[in-house]
Amino acid sequence: MNLSQKDKLYNWHPYTQHKTAADFPAIVKGKDALLWDENGKEYIDAIASWWVNPFGHSNKIIADAIYKQLTTLEHVLFGGFTHNRAVELSEKVLSILPSNQKKVFYSDNGSTAVEIAIKAALQFFYNKEERRTKIIAFEDAFHGDTFGAMAASGISFFTEAFQGSLLEVVRIPVPTQDNEQEVLIQLESLLYSKEFAAFIFEPLVLGAAGMVMYEASALDKLIEICKKHQVFTIADEVMTGFGKTGKTFACNYLSQKPDMMCLSKALTGGTIPMAITTFTQEIFDGFYSDDVNKALFHGHTFTANPTGCAAALASIELLCTEEIQQNIKQINQLHLQFQEKIKTHHKIKVTRVLGVIFALEIKTEGQESYYGGLRNKLYNFFIEKGIILRPVGNIVYILPPYIITKEQLQKVYGSIEKVLEIV
Ligand SMILES: *Cc1c(COP(=O)(O)O)cnc(C)c1O
Repeated sequence: MNLSQKDKLYNWHPYTQHKTAADFPAIVKGKDALLWDENGKEYIDAIASWWVNPFGHSNKIIADAIYKQLTTLEHVLFGGFTHNRAVELSEKVLSILPSNQKKVFYSDNGSTAVEIAIKAALQFFYNKEERRTKIIAFEDAFHGDTFGAMAASGISFFTEAFQGSLLEVVRIPVPTQDNEQEVLIQLESLLYSKEFAAFIFEPLVLGAAGMVMYEASALDKLIEICKKHQVFTIADEVMTGFGKTGKTFACNYLSQKPDMMCLSKALTGGTIPMAITTFTQEIFDGFYSDDVNKALFHGHTFTANPTGCAAALASIELLCTEEIQQNIKQINQLHLQFQEKIKTHHKIKVTRVLGVIFALEIKTEGQESYYGGLRNKLYNFFIEKGIILRPVGNIVYILPPYIITKEQLQKVYGSIEKVLEIV
């Protein structure tokens, strides 16, 4: 039995119907933008392993930082203790976030970062003896798979089985040129009810929805309305954070500042699971009291794990180098050139680019489902060609690691041109 077959004996994979799933390639090695499976087949990782890996696989600088930390202090509990790495990382992260972000809460993944933001919003009002139990989110949003995060997520088949057990969330459409005014009015009319604690959103790009993009100016207006009604705004930058949109954070495109931010995916350069939720002073102060019951009762065993912190510090340092910043610009330029070249293709409905993110929608008859037939055809075509892309329905997107070479990226573009011939 090879690894792929053995895997089937033991493992239950995410988002997988095992009855119909093929054998999964068993990856045994990675370097930079490349991965190799047990048969020596090479793959270009054109989605940075689910958006986590900007600096390439087996990155030596991050690996060295992790090794050094593991042999100095691998872990210590964060309840009742602190450590140098958490202090350094918080100071660093706050120095690159919007200036109103003042406090850092650590957890393990994007979903927990979102849970913490939602819990903080609800408890903030509870602590003031105000009853605000609902939140607002976008249609087709994705905020994670734990209960709170899942409630905020709007991709319906992800959450269908759990309706009735979820926090109450009211959805507004993602603003477009056509509906912006209506969306603003809808949000404002909702907020008069005083039932809402927060509005959570993926700023500028809805990743899991298929890299759906909207304007910063529209988001600014939505945030402004929330501020007017004292409803907290939560920017879920789990996907967009750390350079993906061409700026360090998508929120850097805004004039307004969100009250809370969620970070995870690229935080440690794709090495160690870790997440951060950040808060304004105002939110922190809503828990600051002589009354112990007003504390935020949330924590995870591995909160602020020093090894994760060391990986994140090395990763942020890499992000800030001239070389990586140039790479981000170059990928954006190449995406724009590719977009010019194929946007009029008769099989393409629309293309979009922001930062290192490129997406195109293939024209289809009717609605193409998330994991439907066309999606599987596209996915298998790319895998066959040794390129890892995970189309969403009829949407093909690229979100490469920043260290992908020009040649590798051209190969990815070439494979997309070829796939358009067979769909
Ligand atoms: C992936 C993602 C999450 C969930 O992160 P996990 O680490 O998978 O729990 C939350 N929000 C956004 C925007 C994401 O892209």
